[in-house]
This record gives sequence, structure tokens and C-alpha cells, in this order.
Amino acid sequence: MVLLDLNSHNKHYNPEKFRSNFPAINDQSVYLDSAATALKPQAMIAATHEYYAHSTATAQRSLHHDALQVTASIDKARQYVADFIHANDNSEIIWTRGTTESINIVAQSYARTILKPNDEIIVSELEHHSNLLPWLIVAQQTGAKVIKWSSNIDELSALISSRTKIVAITQMSNVTGFCPDLATISQITHQYNAVLVVDGAQGIVHHCLDVKQLDIDFYAFSAHKLYGPTGLGVLYGKQLLLKQMSVWQGGGKMLKTASFSDFQPADLPYKFEAGTPNIAGIIGFAATLDWLRNWDVKQADRYTEQLANYTKSQLMKITDIEFYSVDNSPIISFNIKNIHHNDLAILLGEQKIAIRTGELCAQPLMQKLGCHGVIRISLMPYNNQQDVDKLIEAIQNAIAILT
Ligand code: PMP
Repeated sequence: MVLLDLNSHNKHYNPEKFRSNFPAINDQSVYLDSAATALKPQAMIAATHEYYAHSTATAQRSLHHDALQVTASIDKARQYVADFIHANDNSEIIWTRGTTESINIVAQSYARTILKPNDEIIVSELEHHSNLLPWLIVAQQTGAKVIKWSSNIDELSALISSRTKIVAITQMSNVTGFCPDLATISQITHQYNAVLVVDGAQGIVHHCLDVKQLDIDFYAFSAHKLYGPTGLGVLYGKQLLLKQMSVWQGGGKMLKTASFSDFQPADLPYKFEAGTPNIAGIIGFAATLDWLRNWDVKQADRYTEQLANYTKSQLMKITDIEFYSVDNSPIISFNIKNIHHNDLAILLGEQKIAIRTGELCAQPLMQKLGCHGVIRISLMPYNNQQDVDKLIEAIQNAIAILT
């Protein structure tokens, strides 16, 4: 059953119309920090408000009318996510708190049970701390080793061996915007019977992906970077793997039977969902995905790419600017010689331009890039050329003060 068919509608994308869906956008400020968290469309805000204002109830527990409705909404939302990433079955979709928790579940409930001393986990150098620390922790617990990988395909072929049990890679770097070739990485990983874990935190909003076609074993993302609510994430896992994994947290509804001596875990996906779920978040996220299917996301991506190219062409006029990001990416990272990234961020903030600076939760990558932090601009289909022009003017004002 496909509830959310992204191809079935007569879709379109109009930048101004799209932008008008975001109540946080106004003429006084410019939001260029969407890689940290995306702005929220009215449809998502309204659905969350409706739940809290008129139909608050718990899910999968009580049997009164509103509670049954809420349970049905959560099931529908799970199917929407399964459709969005082309999962085989909605039982492969686990609700979590975000990408971070999703990857930690894989590390603790999967990796920890299979890793032996000297087994290897190959982790790319591009990774956010969320896709590095869970592997370092489980390596300490099991005696396995974390192997650094540049994300270059030839290097993967050289590093991978029968000792490799996991390959962990981002769909899109939150610093450089680089999107690795997941199809080839998946092929190489599976030739060695290792498991592929993909961090979709940045990629999901710009590049819809098909977990089945790419043969991804585990895929993690956060709703808040896909126009959805904070505090909600998804772990996709192949059914076979999820079934063999040990439980994550203990608590209500993750069990079939319990006594003082033992318990029997619930079936998928509930086995990994102890406690009351983030009901308002899930309902809001379903509304987000429902709203998103009205738009031609591929066209929106092309628009964002053009806007990114315009932004980069304007930034290139600044003297002594050094870029760290790849071309055509909605993520643009750079430094300006003799200007500290945080000084620039503060002066831009005073001019109501929101950007991100610092290590971007990627210390090893900063070391590789040879810097202590960067300035990051991140673009979305709701941004426009005026946003970029205001940014450039604000940077010029800041440079005049700082030099
Ligand atoms: N991975 C990447 C590439 C990210 O950009 C982020 C968020 N900055 C995360 C993981 C972690 O996401 P969250 O904090 O929502 O769990």
C-alpha cells in the first residue's frame, strides 16, 4: 500500500508560492542556516496546533475516539515515511529522536552484538560527530577498530576486507556539501558482506533517495531538517537486520510479555519504540510530508542549485575568500583571510542574517581542511536572490568593520 506517492500528483514548484508557506520568513531577516534546522511550513504548524488544541490523546494505548484517531495517524505517518524513502514495509521505519539517536541504535543494538575484537568499522572523514562517536563508543566496548576513510571510492576498495563489518558514510556532508556515490559504495560494501549505514541528515531534503534501489542497510535522518518538527527522527533498517537486533531501550509497549525474570520483545517496529512516542511531532511530520507532495521537489532542487551558483559567484568577488564546499551545493562553506568566522557571524547576526559558523560538529574534518572553523551558508527552495544580495551586503559591511 502506497499512501504517499510523490509522483502521482500534478505537481509544480514556484519559488514565491513555496516561500509564502513559511510564516517565519519576513522582510526584516534572512535565514541561511537551514542545514542546522529548516524553517517550518504552515501545514506542519497547523497540524501540531490542531493536535494540542483539539485532539490531545495518547497512541497505541487508550481506546477512546481521539486515542484511536491518534494511533491511526501515527500508522499513516509511518507509511508516509516508508513511501518517501521507498522502504519495502512500514515496519522498517522506527521513530527516534533524530539522526543521532538512530545511529546510536544501530551502534548499540546491531554493531555491539556482532563486533569482535579487531573487526573493523570504516567511517568516512566527512562525518558529523553523530556518525563517528557512536562507532568510537562501540569500538571501545567491543575491541573493534574504527578505520578512517577519505570517502574516495578507490580508497574504500583498498581498505575494505573480511574484517570490515560496517561502512558508515554521509549522504551529504554538512561542511562540504559533497554527496558520495552511494550506489558504488553499497556495491563494494556488500561484496564483503559488510553493512552500509547512511547518515541522511543533510541529504534527505535535497535528494530523495530509494533505500531499496541503493541497497542501503540502515538509513538515518531527522525530521527537523526536512521542514518537520524537532525531536523526531527516523531509523530505516532492512527487516532482516532489525529482526536480529537486540532491543534498544526498555519500557512501555516494546514488549509482548514481561515478568520479573524475563520479557519477550514486541514485533517490529515497536520493539525499538519504548515509551510514549513524540505524538505531536509525528502528526506534524505526516502533515509536512503530505504538504511536500504538492511540490515538484526535483524542480525545487534545480532552483536551489541555481541560487547556490549565484551565491558562490557573488561570494567569489570577496578578496581572500577560501571555499571548502563543492560546486553546485546548497551548502557553501568558506573563510575570509584574517577574519575570525565567529566575528563575522556576530556582525551578520546584528544585521539579522542567520548563518552558522564553527566546527560544525565535524572536528576531524576541520583538521583535514586545516582550519578551526568555517562560515556556512545553507540554502533551501524558500530562499531567494534578495536573501543572497542582503547577505553579500551584510558581509561587506562586516568586512569594513573588521579590517
Ligand atoms: N549528521 C549530519 C550530517 C548533520 O548535519 C547533523 C545535524 N547537524 C546530524 C547528523 C545530527 O542530526 P540531529 O542533531 O538532528 O540528530
